[in-house]
Amino acid sequence: MTAAPTAVRIGLDVGGTKIDAVALDDAGAVVARRRSATRGGADGVVDSIRDAILRLDRGGAAVAAIGIGVPGQAHGGVVRHAVNLGVEELALADAVSTLFDVPVAVENDVKAAALGAHALGDGTGSLALLNLGTGVAAGIVADGALLCGRHGAAGEIGHVAVDPAGPSCRCGQTGCIETLAGGAAVSARWGRPGDTVREIFDAADAGDPSAIRLRGDVARGAAAAIRLLALAVDPDRLVVTGGVAGLGERLRSAIADELRRSSATSPFLRSLHLDTRVEMLPSASPAAALGAALLDARVLV
Ligand SMILES: [Zn+2]
Repeated sequence: MTAAPTAVRIGLDVGGTKIDAVALDDAGAVVARRRSATRGGADGVVDSIRDAILRLDRGGAAVAAIGIGVPGQAHGGVVRHAVNLGVEELALADAVSTLFDVPVAVENDVKAAALGAHALGDGTGSLALLNLGTGVAAGIVADGALLCGRHGAAGEIGHVAVDPAGPSCRCGQTGCIETLAGGAAVSARWGRPGDTVREIFDAADAGDPSAIRLRGDVARGAAAAIRLLALAVDPDRLVVTGGVAGLGERLRSAIADELRRSSATSPFLRSLHLDTRVEMLPSASPAAALGAALLDARVLV
């Protein structure tokens, strides 16, 4: 029987509606997990994080360090433009460090999820994680370290323009990957408020022509993102996650079909076997919270 840890690292994936919190022992194993509600605004977010940590059953173990993944930009412990949290700017690392008197690392949630997905595998080699959620972004882990880049923009591939005739993007460009495969953009193009990408896929299955077109665009945008990651990074693993990825096999097979179709004329692309290599991360995976707990040691600037 393994002895209870005396100290744990805490990881939190802070989403717009809920926080997924985990505690890791020295070996990196998840020894506790709890989900709780997120309150909005700067004070609400800090209070929700405090409550999530206090309510996590750590079995009496001390808190050694805290890592936090947030849906927004995170640089130097400061969160910016986290629209889903109602936060424009917040010195989150300082605020939480003051509460618990331990080191606190803060990172974008997609990057944290990439680190966690890497750790949930065998923890070796490289991995690119594509998040298909409200927006589209990727996290890249190379040689065990998270790639952040000079401006924190590494992996922001949702705003690579791939279709000159495509829809206008909120970033000011035309035909960005996000306009094709981002949940918010696809739902807006569908034009039925409240409908998610799942409803659009259902309508496509039922034969609706505009839903079929949008489903094709989701696959086309996701496949473009996969190709981009494969050719820029050539990772050992290509993982897809996010709210849209909750479609599971329905989405994976659509992306795989598109990858096969788009590589038909290219022996080089076919040799990469992208269509058979895309993995879907299960929606209940603790990857983002786990990755947050591993943040401070694994960040490559
Ligand atoms: Zn864009």
